[in-house]
Amino acid sequence: MKTGIATVSVSGNLREKLEAIAAAGFDGIEIFEQDFIADAGSPREIGDLVRDHGLEILLFQPFRDFEGLPEPLRARAFDRARHKFDLMVELGAPMVLVCSSVHPEAQGGIDRAAEDFRQLGQIAAERGLKVGFEALAWGRHVNDHRDAWEIVRRADHTAVGLILDSFHTLARKIDPDTIRRIPGDRIFFVQLADAPLIEMDLLYWSRHFRNMPGEGDLDVTAFMRAVAATGYGGPASLEIFNDQFRGGSPKGLARDGHRALTALLDDVRRQEPGIAAELPGIPGRIAIEGVEFIEFAADGEELDLLTATLRSLGFIRAGAHISKAVELWTQGDIRIVLNAENEGFARTFWHVHGMGVCDRGLRVGDVADTVRRSVALGADPFSQPVGPGELDIPAIRGVGGGVIHFIDSTSGLSDVWDVEFRPVGDMAAAGAGLTRIDHIAETMSYDEMLSWSLFYTSIFEMKKAPMVDVIDPDGLVHSQAVQAPDGALRLTLNGAESHRTLAGQFLSESFGSTVQHIAFATDDIFRTAEALQRGGFAVLPMPKNYYDDLRARFGLPRDQIERMRRFDILYDEDASGRYFQLYSRPFTGGFFFEVVAREDGYQGYGAPNAPFRIAAQKRIVSQKGVPRR
Ligand code: MG
Ligand code: MG
Repeated sequence: MKTGIATVSVSGNLREKLEAIAAAGFDGIEIFEQDFIADAGSPREIGDLVRDHGLEILLFQPFRDFEGLPEPLRARAFDRARHKFDLMVELGAPMVLVCSSVHPEAQGGIDRAAEDFRQLGQIAAERGLKVGFEALAWGRHVNDHRDAWEIVRRADHTAVGLILDSFHTLARKIDPDTIRRIPGDRIFFVQLADAPLIEMDLLYWSRHFRNMPGEGDLDVTAFMRAVAATGYGGPASLEIFNDQFRGGSPKGLARDGHRALTALLDDVRRQEPGIAAELPGIPGRIAIEGVEFIEFAADGEELDLLTATLRSLGFIRAGAHISKAVELWTQGDIRIVLNAENEGFARTFWHVHGMGVCDRGLRVGDVADTVRRSVALGADPFSQPVGPGELDIPAIRGVGGGVIHFIDSTSGLSDVWDVEFRPVGDMAAAGAGLTRIDHIAETMSYDEMLSWSLFYTSIFEMKKAPMVDVIDPDGLVHSQAVQAPDGALRLTLNGAESHRTLAGQFLSESFGSTVQHIAFATDDIFRTAEALQRGGFAVLPMPKNYYDDLRARFGLPRDQIERMRRFDILYDEDASGRYFQLYSRPFTGGFFFEVVAREDGYQGYGAPNAPFRIAAQKRIVSQKGVPRR
């Protein structure tokens, strides 16, 4: 099955778009009339330019307000069509998209429209062209693919076929399974787009809020399964209108689009067996079994502070690397790697971002499959020179400049801790009851959030939770959790809109997006809090007002409130369970640790507490007078 993308989906001028679309690996484009008109090249030159990029022109669009017009408007519409057809021949575009009319004088009637299309098909066929008819969700008389199909069926011309667009069908809540009744060879073209569920005018929703399959809430997979079941073998093409994307990078958008489309077609191949369309086989979504390690790049005073903090959190220095300035710190099932090497990726990362999480290791079932799926979905493989005695652990570049390593138990990679680290005998500490990594919070600018969540949900078996807004006193932060089904990996993606928010400040301090906090899990928050206090852990102090309010909100017993207050523990609950949290003070660049206890299946991340946590952190940051790097 050929993959395509409408030029309107990508930002930039036509030449930038083509370069990005070709680099992302698409087979072809839908050329938008506007992109074509804005370019200085002749139709023939533009056609050659597209083909020089190794791309095919799959479709020319749009041709509007054609069917159902009374004379003399009807004759004029046919004249317009002839003019476009001549241009398409010059350009080398084989098919035109005609979208259902919104013309105020357009008249209804399936047979009238069918007759118009039969005649248009005849004119197109004389030039070797095809005509596809698409029902716009807001079309004047035709706004349902079932009616468009009936018109195409009655037009009864080999050059006239149906164009389906997932947005128009799904936005109007039309059952996509109705597509299964249409013969696949009469479907000429398929456009795909997702969108977030928002109640608004269909036209406005479509023109401004579409996004890549998997980025929104529409069941694009069910739509495409139905299409594939008809025997359709034509192109699958993205048509995305999105205000935010218009300002994005052409390369990033095209890469995200190709990633989304590849993942979607792979889902279709798995869920709809026996389809005629040829789809490349790639390993399925990767199940994450756990976080194997978190690696920090750090040096100097920040490294000292980090090790002191880890010690106060009950971690022990368990190993030293056989040849590098790298240490392993552990507690429970948590491994923290501190990298102070003078060269290599960690040092490069440190130069750009300062102290921070440069790398993380994920436990998976099969590393080779993981890398194959990641690369098929456009992730960049990562490698650096392997020293003597070191294991070559496969990795990819994550989003936002970090690296993700993969470790499985079948290929000897999980031996890395015994092979590359020698024990240092620092085994005295009793620990503070931290058991595992509960979640990793990543911060990015709001425009990058969809791209990040798509990265995780397309490669891994991870699902998005509903987005929540976190109120920072200086602006809004959008928070989106992405998690593996059993919580083996939980990420919170925090999109900052303003640089005055704490997340926004962190972004500018760390010169780009990265991990802003790591939350460790404990089974007993009070026991852990006592151990932390004994270890000298510098907790983030919470104001008395917070606890007064907590009592009013949840009606908790006074002594429990007092205990929480004594240890600066925050509290939340949902329908199923309770959540306890405490925070470290922020490091210079804004990074911090969190300790959490989930009871009885609490699913969230304490979002209602975020404004108070942020205010408390801001008080400390402003006292310290954070130096700007
Ligand atoms: Mg469309
Ligand atoms: Mg958190």
